[in-house]
Amino acid sequence: MLAAMNAYRAAILRFDPAREPGRSAIYDEDGLLVVGPDANGMQVVQAVGSYQELRERFLGVPIEHFPGRIIAPGFVDMHIHFPQTNVIASPADGLLPWLENHTYPEEGRFSDPSHCAESAAFFIAELLRNGVTTALAFASSHPASVTALFARAQQQRLRLITGLCLMDRHAPAGVLNGASMDGRFDATEQSLIDSEALIGQWHGRGRLGYAITPRFAPSCSEAQLRGAGELAARYGDVWIQSHVAENRDEIEWARALFPASCSYLATYGDFGLLRERAIYAHCLHFDEQDRALMHASGAAAAVCPSSNLFLGSGFFDYTAADRAGFHYGLASDVGGGTSFSPFHTMLAAFYVGREGRSKQALSLAPQHLWWQHTTGAAQALGLAGTVGNLLPGCEADFIVLNPQATPLLARRTACADSLDELLFALIVLGDDRLVQRTVVSQALLTIPAN
Ligand SMILES: [Zn+2]
Repeated sequence: MLAAMNAYRAAILRFDPAREPGRSAIYDEDGLLVVGPDANGMQVVQAVGSYQELRERFLGVPIEHFPGRIIAPGFVDMHIHFPQTNVIASPADGLLPWLENHTYPEEGRFSDPSHCAESAAFFIAELLRNGVTTALAFASSHPASVTALFARAQQQRLRLITGLCLMDRHAPAGVLNGASMDGRFDATEQSLIDSEALIGQWHGRGRLGYAITPRFAPSCSEAQLRGAGELAARYGDVWIQSHVAENRDEIEWARALFPASCSYLATYGDFGLLRERAIYAHCLHFDEQDRALMHASGAAAAVCPSSNLFLGSGFFDYTAADRAGFHYGLASDVGGGTSFSPFHTMLAAFYVGREGRSKQALSLAPQHLWWQHTTGAAQALGLAGTVGNLLPGCEADFIVLNPQATPLLARRTACADSLDELLFALIVLGDDRLVQRTVVSQALLTIPAN
């Protein structure tokens, strides 16, 4: 058994899931992370703790030493759009004009499988370069985009959840779901047939998972939402992802289209799309009833602070979310979001929390910000104990951070007096240059090629 193990020596950060997130970090200045295969051949954490305490137990296990570096859990991005990689940094007046002028024209290009493959290679590489090892991603409305993204993630061993974007109305023809080639099925029916086929092909295969993906209620007919809900009931361990309550105009539109529902969020519930493993991006303009519905249904929020600031959409209310008790975690929301870097997203979350001032003091804590992008996000996805942490049994996804990556980082982190000061300096000053290496868990057993 020892022969199949590897160990890594550095400062090590991880989180105690039993503690209040803002005070949950566990940090060994001189730590050892021991990694080895579990019963299924996946590389998982076998032991973690102080180097002095663990080294005797693992004599003979090869140790890679990273002096002056920090090992931390790989980041979990709860909401990102694969076909919007080229849309990042597009100027717009708000959500709806941004969709129309920038996003839809680019997403239309994903009808071309070669554009899908080239973009998937870049997208997965960019996630890994930024230290993201688990992502819940939107694909486009073209099945080729889903296939290309899954195939590339499998090759690079990223833990990826994605699905076919469901949209059968209120968008240009090039981004709507298409009818079957032989004309036997209409676009709505075909989108549901395609979703189910993709679940069968990819869900649970290695580290991949499928998400039923209605873009947002205004882009889906009642028949499409109903079909999505039926799939969600039939495949209970498949994820659901969509958007809700991002922007006032969008909310008004959704309310006009579905007047029978109590709220925009309740529309999803009425179609069977609120349950555990259902992840809703934004969740900004909620009332107490919406928050109670999130909690009761087990759905979780993907908080997208850089996107919300960029598009002027609003501020996620951490205090109200904690009071209602529903799960949430951080997400980049590229291309509405402004960076693939979890450091930028954590800093944006700090700004958003700051908007609530002292009321939201706990969510401003550096440990809480970091937790939201790792352990907290994993918990919100239903993957607690699997990813987002470095406790024994977790998949061995980790990053090696170099606090000397830039002159200013080196200078500032050298005079950090506490763990919170160190983490906050990394959050505020950090970007992809901090991430020296990203390691993803490997299956030692061969996964059959697709
Ligand atoms: Zn989004």
